[in-house]
Amino acid sequence: MTPTVVKSTAELRARCDAARREDRRVGLVPTMGALHAGHLSLLDIAKAESDFQVVTIFVNPTQFGPGEDYDRYPRTLETDLDKLAPYGVDLVFAPSREEMYPKGFGTTVQVAGLTEGLCGSRRPGHFDGVATVVTKLFCIVGPATAVFGRKDYQQLQVIKKLVCDLNLPVDIAEAPIVREPDGVAMSSRNAYLTPPDRDRARALSRGLRAAQDLFDAGERNVGALRQAAVDTVSEMVDALEYVTAANPDTLVPEESHHQVQARLLIAIAARLGATRLIDNTVLGEDPTIVVSTE
Ligand code: AMP
Repeated sequence: MTPTVVKSTAELRARCDAARREDRRVGLVPTMGALHAGHLSLLDIAKAESDFQVVTIFVNPTQFGPGEDYDRYPRTLETDLDKLAPYGVDLVFAPSREEMYPKGFGTTVQVAGLTEGLCGSRRPGHFDGVATVVTKLFCIVGPATAVFGRKDYQQLQVIKKLVCDLNLPVDIAEAPIVREPDGVAMSSRNAYLTPPDRDRARALSRGLRAAQDLFDAGERNVGALRQAAVDTVSEMVDALEYVTAANPDTLVPEESHHQVQARLLIAIAARLGATRLIDNTVLGEDPTIVVSTE
């Protein structure tokens, strides 16, 4: 059944309040739309954790910097609703920009520390935009559970910190990265890629897999593990923004000469043409990435 679409914050709040009055546990899945199997996997988790699911589809302007892809970001509401239909989602919230940021809007939620490195240093203000819109969604929906993907690993950590610091009454559930059969992490931005660039995009997951293979072979030197990823990716992309080896909880980069204790985050951001892609894995925690050789 095609889900009910709500466009006003007042109606969304009223419907979520009504669900709670019926003792239903509200689950939230925030997205920017152009839905793919990665997004739908979040919904599977939401369905297991709640009995009233709200999916939001909003391309949030405040998390895009000047010159980024806000204007060309894919907006495919009708197709998205078709994809959601078999899931029996209770509500889709698809507000206008003005509904979320009316004239005179002037508040920003800023999470310090975790937002400094990785994408934070490359996309100034990005995580302020994310933290602000997610806080607004939490306040409007009042979810008992909200689901976020590990594809955006830094974002997930920022949201967990926000919830902890502000004592927000919501459980954060995290979803593993869903990949294409050749290993490429699913992303709405993959739609931008030309066929040759889509081919080259495999370098990111292959770089992570190279680090995984070395780790599985017993290597524990941070510099060597990171370098395995760099060597695989750097030649294949137009610009390697970063390959960072960091503590998976604090996101503080690990010194090259350190030995990994139990877990190590390897996170990559790279550009192919005009498209910026990110990917990551936590060595010692995430499953082996399947990369087809064809
Ligand atoms: P987005 O629409 O890109 O803002 O993503 C919405 C949510 O879906 C975020 O929590 C993302 O981390 C998650 N997500 C996006 N792609 C994937 C993927 N390939 N696997 C798992 N989660 C994903």
